[in-house]
Amino acid sequence: MKEDTIAAISTPMGEGGIGIIRISGEESFNIAKKLFYPKSKISFEEMKPRTMYLGNIYDDLEKYVVDEVLMVKFKAPNSYTAEDMVEIHSHGGFTAVRKILNLVLRNGARLAQPGEFTKRAFINGRIDLSQAEAVIDIIRAKTDKALKVAVDQLKGKISEKIKEIMDSLLSVIALVEANIDFPEEEIPEASPDIILKNISYNIERLNYLKEKAGAGKILREGISTVIVGKPNVGKSSLLNSLLMEKRAIVTEIPGTTRDVIEEYINVKGIPIKIIDTAGIRDTKDPVEKIGVERAMEKVEGAELVLFVVDASGELEEEDYKIMENIKEKRLLIIFNKIDLGQKIDEKKVKEHLPGKRVVKISALRDEGIELLREEIYELIVNEVGSLEEGIIITAQRHIEAINKAIESLKEAKITVENNLPMEISAIYIREAWEYLGEITGDSVKEDILDAIFENFCIGK
Ligand code: GDP
Ligand code: ZN
Repeated sequence: MKEDTIAAISTPMGEGGIGIIRISGEESFNIAKKLFYPKSKISFEEMKPRTMYLGNIYDDLEKYVVDEVLMVKFKAPNSYTAEDMVEIHSHGGFTAVRKILNLVLRNGARLAQPGEFTKRAFINGRIDLSQAEAVIDIIRAKTDKALKVAVDQLKGKISEKIKEIMDSLLSVIALVEANIDFPEEEIPEASPDIILKNISYNIERLNYLKEKAGAGKILREGISTVIVGKPNVGKSSLLNSLLMEKRAIVTEIPGTTRDVIEEYINVKGIPIKIIDTAGIRDTKDPVEKIGVERAMEKVEGAELVLFVVDASGELEEEDYKIMENIKEKRLLIIFNKIDLGQKIDEKKVKEHLPGKRVVKISALRDEGIELLREEIYELIVNEVGSLEEGIIITAQRHIEAINKAIESLKEAKITVENNLPMEISAIYIREAWEYLGEITGDSVKEDILDAIFENFCIGK
C-alpha cells in the first residue's frame, strides 16, 4: 500500500525570517502544482529538483496571492523521506505559514504526526533507527561536543559497529545451523572452541561500547547538578557567574530563592544541568519549607553536588547538617566570598567530607569560576573516562539493548561450556542478535517505534 501524503510546518512557530512548509508523499508534486505559480513562467515539470524557484502561492478558492515564496522539489528517492517532497519557504510569522499549510491540506495532504517525516525515512530504508534517533539528539544537542556525537550517530557510525557484531553473531549461528541440518556434509565443523571464541570476542566488543556509554549519556542528557548551601552563602550568585548572565534572582534577604530553576551550562563540552535550590534549613515558613524539602529530594537524584559555604564566616549547625546529607555524593566543596578573607576552618570541612576537593571562589567578583569549571570537568572525566575519541553510545535505549545482548551471550557461553546441544547456544546467540537489532531497527517492535517517534516535534 502506498503511504498517503503528509504536510507540516517545519520551522518553529512565531515571528521569524522564514517559515517552511514540508510536503512528502506521492501527491506532493500535484498539490504543489495547484498552488505555486513560478515567476519565470515555466511549468512545474520543468522545475529542476533541488533548485529553488521564486513564485507566488495562490489561493485557488478565494482567488488571492497568499505569499511570495521560494519552492524546491525533491524527486524520490533523493529526499529526506526518500519520497517525492516539496518545501515551500514562505515569509515567517504566523499567518502566511498557517494559511499555506491549510491550502496544502485542503488539496489532499494530511497533517503529519510528530517525527513522521523521519519515520518515513526509516521505513523507506534511507536511514536506520539509530540514525533516526540521532536527528532528535541533533535538534536537542546542548553543547558542541554533544552535537558531534549525535552527528556521528546520524552518519551511521553506531549502526556500523553494531552491525559488525550482529554479522559476526549471525555467521556463528549459520555455522551451527548448517552443522545441525547437514551433519554429513562437507562444511566447517562448529566446534565449541570456535563458538566460544566468537562469543567471547563479541562480549568484549559490546563491553567496550558499554564502557563509553556513561560518557555518552552525560553528553546527551547532561549531568544533573545541585547547588546546596545554607541561605545567603551565594548559591544564586554562583549560578549567575556560571551562567554569565543575570538570570537567577540575587537578594540580600536569606531564603528567598524559592523557585527551583533549571539551566544548562557548558563545561568544556559537558552539559551541566544545574538546579539552584532554596537553602537547606529547618524553617517554619511553609513556602520556604517546600523549597527545602525539594532541595533534599534534588540532592538525592543529583549526579553532582556543588556545596557552597561562606568562607568568610564560621561553620554553623546548618552546614554540618548539610554535609551529613551529601557526603556520599559526587561533590565539590566551594568556599565562596573568599574576597572577604578566609575565616572558615578548612580542616574541619575536609574531616566531614573526606576525599572531596575544595575550590575557592568569589562569586561576586567572578574569581575562581574558571578553576571551578576545570574541577567539575576533571571530576567527571576521571569517573566516566574521556569524551574525546571513539564511538560513543548515548541513548539509554541502546545501552539497555547492549546489556541484554551481553546477558544472552553470557548464557550462550555457559551452554557451550557445559556441552549442551549447540541448538541451545544458537538460540541464545540469536536472542543477542535480536536485542542488537533493536538498535539498528532490524528487529524492532512497533510500540518501540511509536515511542521513539513520539519524542519528535511535528515537521521533522
Ligand atoms: P543564596 O541565598 O545562597 O542564593 O545567596 P545569594 O547568591 O543570594 O547571595 C547572598 C548575598 O551574598 C548577596 O548580597 C550577594 O551579593 C552576596 N555574595 C554572594 N557571593 C559573594 C562573594 O563572593 N563575595 C561577597 N563579598 N559577597 C557575596
Ligand atoms: Zn539564592
